[in-house]
Amino acid sequence: MYLKALEIQGFKSFADKTRLSFEKDITAIVGPNGSGKSNISDAILWVMGEQRSKALRGSKMEDVIFGGTEKRGALGYAQVSLIIDNSAHIFDSDQSEIMLTRRYYRSGESEYYINKEAVRLKDINSLLMDTGLGRDGYSIIGQGRIAEIVSSRSTDRRDVFEEAAGISR
Ligand code: ATP
Repeated sequence: MYLKALEIQGFKSFADKTRLSFEKDITAIVGPNGSGKSNISDAILWVMGEQRSKALRGSKMEDVIFGGTEKRGALGYAQVSLIIDNSAHIFDSDQSEIMLTRRYYRSGESEYYINKEAVRLKDINSLLMDTGLGRDGYSIIGQGRIAEIVSSRSTDRRDVFEEAAGISR
């Protein structure tokens, strides 16, 4: 699976619209502590439907919205889009690219889109199921995640294997 690009706006430390294009080779993101590297993987998890604030290193969902700095006021919503190559038709769609978008307002309202068409969270989950991506997938391995998998209950571990085997649907 090839993640082509990520667009972030108003999400955590990314106040301005930022587009990251990933080339075919490995992409490494480097930067000083606290510069926002982990916020990028949080954005990927989030756009794929993550609902647990803790998994996004926050205490409530509002924490994902840019909260302002000394020089700049807080923003009213966060938006992330993930563009995935679908030329091999991994996803059940005729489109050669799939763009997932999630928007979240301070009022607590959520919006999800697939290729700019409004959908439900359920549709995002269903699209990503059995692809290895998704909020319960194993495609993002953060600090402490390996220990979590190894020490998890056997039923939870089974979910990881089922997703890897492509039979969770
Ligand atoms: P390290 O190398 O230490 O792991 P990192 O590059 O991964 O650091 P992150 O954890 O991604 O850094 O980013 C932390 C920064 O993001 C902090 O400066 C924090 O203030 C900022 N940040 C997080 N949430 C928000 C928010 N809602 N609004 C504004 N800034 C935020």
